[in-house]
Amino acid sequence: MRIVLMGPPGAGKGTQAIKVAEKLQVPHISTGEIFRANLADGTPLGLEAKRYMEAGEYVPDEVTNSMVASRLAESDAAGGFILDGYPRTVAQVGELDTILAGLGTPLDKVVEITANTDEVVARLLNRAQEQGRADDTEEVIRRRMDVYAEQTEPLVRVYSERGLLLKVDGMGSMDEVTARLLTALGA
Ligand code: AMP
Repeated sequence: MRIVLMGPPGAGKGTQAIKVAEKLQVPHISTGEIFRANLADGTPLGLEAKRYMEAGEYVPDEVTNSMVASRLAESDAAGGFILDGYPRTVAQVGELDTILAGLGTPLDKVVEITANTDEVVARLLNRAQEQGRADDTEEVIRRRMDVYAEQTEPLVRVYSERGLLLKVDGMGSMDEVTARLLTALGA
């Protein structure tokens, strides 16, 4: 199965993506994780991404798109994947279409995890304390929410019009949400 998982910052997207990928036995591909790994290793890609991530802005498409294209071309993604955090802009939707057309493997489903904004901000502030992520200060969290609403929320309509969209309520315990996701995906 080739699945895109989307949802506002703090909706539990990353955690759920890992669980669903495990269950479906496909790789979990997170652009945020790839950026963070590059940042930790001090690669040029990591250095480029750093200032955007720390400000809660999106990393420019020319950096992000080529990174995703090469990751999706790796052999472990041939049998399916959970794409977590990409696409995030309408332009990235077009890029993903091109990448997948080139590989001859269209998307199966796009899942939007929905969440209540107040609860999500509380969750993110909590995560900031536990994990010390540089992009989890209150100001940056609010910026990330706005950027999501402006640039990523419109994708819901695009995928809905293609008949690919599933909406799953992200509120409740981690296990409850995982169960809902697997049911929605028929897994
Ligand atoms: P995430 O772990 O998915 O919340 O991503 C963390 C940060 O990485 C985001 O706030 C962006 O700065 C950057 N990022 C991740 N995915 C993308 C993407 N598809 N396009 C642009 N920037 C991204």
